[in-house]
Amino acid sequence: MSQSNRILFAGDPHGNFKPLIAAAQKYQPEAVVLLGDYDLVTPLESCLEEIAGLTEIWWIAGNHDFESPGKYNNLFNSAFSDKDLHLKVTEIAGLRVAGLGGIFLGRVWYPPQQPKWLGKHHYLRHQPANIRYSDLSLKYKSAIWHDEFEALKALKADVLVTHEAPGSHRHGFKVIGDLAVAMGVKKIFHGHLHENYAGFIKNKIKVWGVADGAVADLLGNTLS
Ligand SMILES: [Zn+2]
Repeated sequence: MSQSNRILFAGDPHGNFKPLIAAAQKYQPEAVVLLGDYDLVTPLESCLEEIAGLTEIWWIAGNHDFESPGKYNNLFNSAFSDKDLHLKVTEIAGLRVAGLGGIFLGRVWYPPQQPKWLGKHHYLRHQPANIRYSDLSLKYKSAIWHDEFEALKALKADVLVTHEAPGSHRHGFKVIGDLAVAMGVKKIFHGHLHENYAGFIKNKIKVWGVADGAVADLLGNTLS
């Protein structure tokens, strides 16, 4: 196994896990990281049965994973429920990998605008009844919340995986670059925009967009 193949990154599967399975079988990585938007009609583990014993499986959620209770449960209550990289740093194949799932949402925070709500507690305090976090709608659960985003900046990482794009893409967000700089990140991999590309942001941080159904290695090479 070459160094660049020890982690593979999978762009939005949207129900098709075949390219990821084929790449994992061929390159035998230590781990695969899925960048969101699974459109699961069955639990995630049933889609990845063929490689579950072969490699570690890690993921972040995309906006589509909050579209229905079914899609949500098939991910967040799957056998891989504890492999969510969102808002933490996890050591994977010798690298510190930080995760940011979800999307920026106008009703919560849409940079560069100021956040409408500073965090979930702030939002819930302003709702009429005694709504708890578990009652938050899936739409609100899909959001990137300002206070959680800021807290992530205090951690250090080598690689950042996001569903949303940083400023390297015309539809990206500059604040993701600010996050990467604060965390000391050298590489960003993102999904969501269905485009394979390589770019740079400030501090010479390299960015790779991974297209839907595509698989990239640690050097950003597209493998399938
Ligand atoms: Zn998406």
